[in-house]
Amino acid sequence: MALLKSGVIGGEVTVKGWVRTKRGNKNVAFIALNDGSTIHSIQLVVDVALFAEELLKRISTGVCLRATGRLVASQGSGQSVEIQVRELEIYGMADDYPLQKKGHTLEFLREIAHLRPRTNTFGAVLRIRHAMAYAIHHYFNELGFVCLHTPLITASDAEGAGAMFQVTTLDLQNPPRNERQEIDFTQDFFGRPTCLTVSGQLEGELGALALGEVYTFGPTFRAENSNTPRHLAEFWMIEPEMAFYDITDNMNLAEDFIKYLIRYALDRCADDLQFLNDMYDNGLIERLRGVAQTDFVRLTYTEGIDILLQSGQPFEFPVAWGVDLQSEHERYLVEKHFQKPVILTDYPKEIKAFYMKQNADGKTVRAMDVLFPKIGEIIGGSQREENLEKLQARIAEMGMSDENLWWYLDTRRFGTVEHSGFGLGFERLLLFVTGMANIRDVIPFPRTPNNAEF
Ligand code: ATP
Ligand code: MN
Repeated sequence: MALLKSGVIGGEVTVKGWVRTKRGNKNVAFIALNDGSTIHSIQLVVDVALFAEELLKRISTGVCLRATGRLVASQGSGQSVEIQVRELEIYGMADDYPLQKKGHTLEFLREIAHLRPRTNTFGAVLRIRHAMAYAIHHYFNELGFVCLHTPLITASDAEGAGAMFQVTTLDLQNPPRNERQEIDFTQDFFGRPTCLTVSGQLEGELGALALGEVYTFGPTFRAENSNTPRHLAEFWMIEPEMAFYDITDNMNLAEDFIKYLIRYALDRCADDLQFLNDMYDNGLIERLRGVAQTDFVRLTYTEGIDILLQSGQPFEFPVAWGVDLQSEHERYLVEKHFQKPVILTDYPKEIKAFYMKQNADGKTVRAMDVLFPKIGEIIGGSQREENLEKLQARIAEMGMSDENLWWYLDTRRFGTVEHSGFGLGFERLLLFVTGMANIRDVIPFPRTPNNAEF
């Protein structure tokens, strides 16, 4: 509400929004009205004598209305301006509105996710989400990156990043079958099995090896049945992909990018962050400032494993060279050992994707994961294997078929070059920036196992 900042005192104004609270006495009513543009509501001061009792009685929490009146300096504390109302028009009633009192639990609000954007908390989160989306495009645009829209429907399970959702128009009750009694996907919409993408990276690489520096920012889908506070079945990912970047360039970009986003939030979302800080997480703003200023620690997976082995911590998942790190391990390194974000590199090739550049040791690849406090992995990336023979050998070694990957391998046949990229999970970023504890609370309509209601 621009009025709250720059409204002309004494002038007549009109506001439209939803009633948050109404209180008062027999002479005057105070209505807090919020239009969604900021965390702050504007106070309407209603002289009861000027309006029909009937009209005032109908105004309750959740009602949508318009008020016109004079903007004046506020008498009471807690707001700088208020409106002395001359005219009131009710647009929509809200009898039996489920969002009555303050202090609904986040769990309860998830059950009414269609209405929770009307709460202060979700207003704040959704405005921050918008600001971050905008900042991401701004950041890359300033650097000259091209936004490349990669497909959501794909025929390759190439990344192996997780279980996929199948896309089909076949009749599931009665699918066509071939002579071997297998489902005949040649009769499916695309003439072959297709799925929702788990990552735009492979197509991103095609873009990078043509346009130099590109990024995708779109939804991705993983049918993994992991009911954790950090996983969604449908989430948004930002995936830059850059020709002529080695892993150090890649790390530098990732660190600069994420710090830029945090600074942007601190600068532009101060009121919403302050609200979340006071309401849920008293360390939030301090943590954001800290991360925006510190240099991230960079170390190898092997060094990380040594630290974990020497930590004497009773981890739920045992540590040994070769294991995939769990979030408890990542968080130990970040929160306990270094107390700052960590970029871990050079993971064992067995636990990473086929396309990562192989190191000379024959055991590790040029992966880089960025690990954050309270989250664990927020970015996963790597330098890509640009050598055709090595890439093909790795594909064969992993028992994968390169049949559906011929187009990807063509980048290594024609004008291949060193290149790198990474994926930032948008909702993981938002978990960090908002301080919310559950990933279901940083996306408007979360998709998780058994949950696609709204
Ligand atoms: P994790 O080990 O945390 O499950 P991952 O290694 O499977 O993640 P990547 O394939 O590297 O993830 O994906 C890149 C980024 O996408 C991750 O660093 C993370 O920020 C985000 N991400 C991955 N899976 C999910 C998910 N199910 N929900 C939300 N974000 C995700
Ligand atoms: Mn990863």
